Amino acid sequence: MSAAPRVAGRPPITCYDTMNRAMAAPRAEVVIDLDNLRHNTAYLAARAPGAELMAVVKADGYGHGAVEVARTALGSGATWLGSCSIPEALALRAGGITAPVLAWLDTPDTDFAPAIAEGVDLGLSTPRALESAAAAARRAGRRARVHLKIDTGLSRNGCPADEWEAFVELAAATPEVEVHAIWSHLACADEPGHPATDAQAERFDDAYRAALRAGLDPKRHLANSAALLTRPDLHFDLVRPGIALYGLNPVPDEHDLRPVMTFRSSVVRTKRIRAGESVSYGLTWTAKSDTSLALVPVGYADGVPRALSNRMHVRLAGRRRPVVGRVCMDQVVVDCGDDEIAEGDEVVLFGTGVDGGPTAREWADTTGTIDYEIVTGMHRPRVVRTYR
Ligand SMILES: *Cc1c(COP(=O)(O)O)cnc(C)c1O
Repeated sequence: MSAAPRVAGRPPITCYDTMNRAMAAPRAEVVIDLDNLRHNTAYLAARAPGAELMAVVKADGYGHGAVEVARTALGSGATWLGSCSIPEALALRAGGITAPVLAWLDTPDTDFAPAIAEGVDLGLSTPRALESAAAAARRAGRRARVHLKIDTGLSRNGCPADEWEAFVELAAATPEVEVHAIWSHLACADEPGHPATDAQAERFDDAYRAALRAGLDPKRHLANSAALLTRPDLHFDLVRPGIALYGLNPVPDEHDLRPVMTFRSSVVRTKRIRAGESVSYGLTWTAKSDTSLALVPVGYADGVPRALSNRMHVRLAGRRRPVVGRVCMDQVVVDCGDDEIAEGDEVVLFGTGVDGGPTAREWADTTGTIDYEIVTGMHRPRVVRTYR
């Protein structure tokens, strides 16, 4: 226990206990709650009972750690993993994961052979990539299992509808590839009722019928988290949730999803300033009365957007408290009024929100972005990751 005297309105003096507590805790840490991840995976799997579940773990598991997330999700209802690139997929294999993995976005000159050798499925949307996969399959001495992507309206990386027929015919005539599935991605699934989703579903159906005509018998997948939660008619054979696994809800209706990431730090020092004194670069905040400040050693180099300067709260010593002044590269300052704060006290920057604390969603809403960008923006190696 700390022997530091706690006197309201005055910072406690530093003693070895508080110093040790501060140093034992990482400066900046994301704590990953694997129980919440298990809960979310099971919750989502139960909502898509007729489909397999692909846990999307691109971008290092949306910043949560791809291998740990993959392992946990596979133990709670997921049967597939989704990666952006082949290096991401191979990192899962290097982590000892043998479940099916789909990698869907690499440059045209990527060598597909290592992925094929490791049994990674390839998401393809151009004839050039298909030919390259076939050549790599010959080198790897093994057929490439592929998922052909149709652009149904997102205008991003699928095969355009007017090139689709030729594409599926080419795939059907390429013995080195086995077409496992056709797939697409939705533009507006997070706005339930948006007419684009039905239009995309219709084009997806056309693409499926063209694939059948070409002699293929593919599985189908289309749904991200939002479509999983709102469009059971679009689950097909496989659903591909990402954000909802991490406990962040992309749709307006309520769901029992529990945020997996908590971003925490601790107070490294406290100080008292007088009314009229100002805080941080530019002196953008001035104390209206004498107050105690707590210095927290995280900043924009850790993933706290500088745009949150004077616009964020942390949870510290049992309640929400405002960050005052500019967010710096390495530090923020919290106004604690006359409350007693000790060096070493835990500071939650964002977390589950169940205790009224701040959330990644709150940061996103304040800065005009989405919580996806917040959780993928916790910068390693400065931010340590801990699993609970
Ligand atoms: C990222 C991604 C997903 C997951 O989307 P969420 O909105 O996070 O559920 C699914 N499919 C593709 C192709 C993706 O790129």
